Amino acid sequence: MSHLHERTAFVTGGARGIGASTANVLHGAGMNVVIGDVLDGTQVADSLGSSARFEPLDVTDADSWRKALAQAENAFGPIDVLINNAGIVDFGGIESVTPARFRRVLDVNLMGTFLGIYCAADQLSRSGQGVVVNVSSTAGLLGYQGLASYVASKWGIRGLTKAAALDLSAKGIRVCSVHPGPIRTPMTEGIDDEVAANQPIARFGHPEEVAAMIRFIVTEATYCTGSEFIVDGGATTGIGLVETVADT
Ligand code: NAD
Repeated sequence: MSHLHERTAFVTGGARGIGASTANVLHGAGMNVVIGDVLDGTQVADSLGSSARFEPLDVTDADSWRKALAQAENAFGPIDVLINNAGIVDFGGIESVTPARFRRVLDVNLMGTFLGIYCAADQLSRSGQGVVVNVSSTAGLLGYQGLASYVASKWGIRGLTKAAALDLSAKGIRVCSVHPGPIRTPMTEGIDDEVAANQPIARFGHPEEVAAMIRFIVTEATYCTGSEFIVDGGATTGIGLVETVADT
């Protein structure tokens, strides 16, 4: 769409993985990009050039959000795109996860997403074309054994997306969620390729494939808000029957 060169996107968790790829793709679409992360994202920002910068950000901390957003506004004017991508995973089922670990995952994934929208809403409203993309997961559409906190947080993000889409529509802000399946990033290091073997597209996805969907939501999906966009190689399409049953 037009006027991309005037836009500024803030990408959380942009120091690596899906966030770094998203920063790269949105920058390639002509936007100024601000990367916020607890890890150092200077290298990613520097590789994009002067219309990109890194700001230290802990998404669980409202003051950290306010500081990073103020720096972003000083540099480029009010942001009009927010990508809530920062997240952590913790393997543990209901009986093995501890309450403290459960709470930590909700704090980063769900509270972090809420605080981003809460603190950035004013900046996002100024252009009249604000967009928020919240990175959920297929774990926000299904349950997964042994991932209780992550599943709860990602369903929470999906619900928060609907609530925010309704609350912020009067300010012209669209809010959508993205639901990736298994993607090869540092988060999934050590997870076997076999995990994707039974999907219709039987491989891990690339971060760029999620970034391309996020770009579409931001730049093209102008009639979509509160919507869910699935990028999962067909993982949530259905349960494949074993061959002998399917053939009868
Ligand atoms: P990743 O671990 O490579 O990147 C996550 C980034 O978030 C890191 O740079 C990390 O430093 C940052 N982060 C973590 N806690 C933070 C905090 N408190 N404040 C600021 N930044 C913080 O993971 P990824 O695979 O790129 O995941 C990105 C998002 O995509 C996450 O929300 C994840 O849950 C989601 N996701 C990933 C997959 C997958 O298979 N990789 C699948 C579905 C959804």
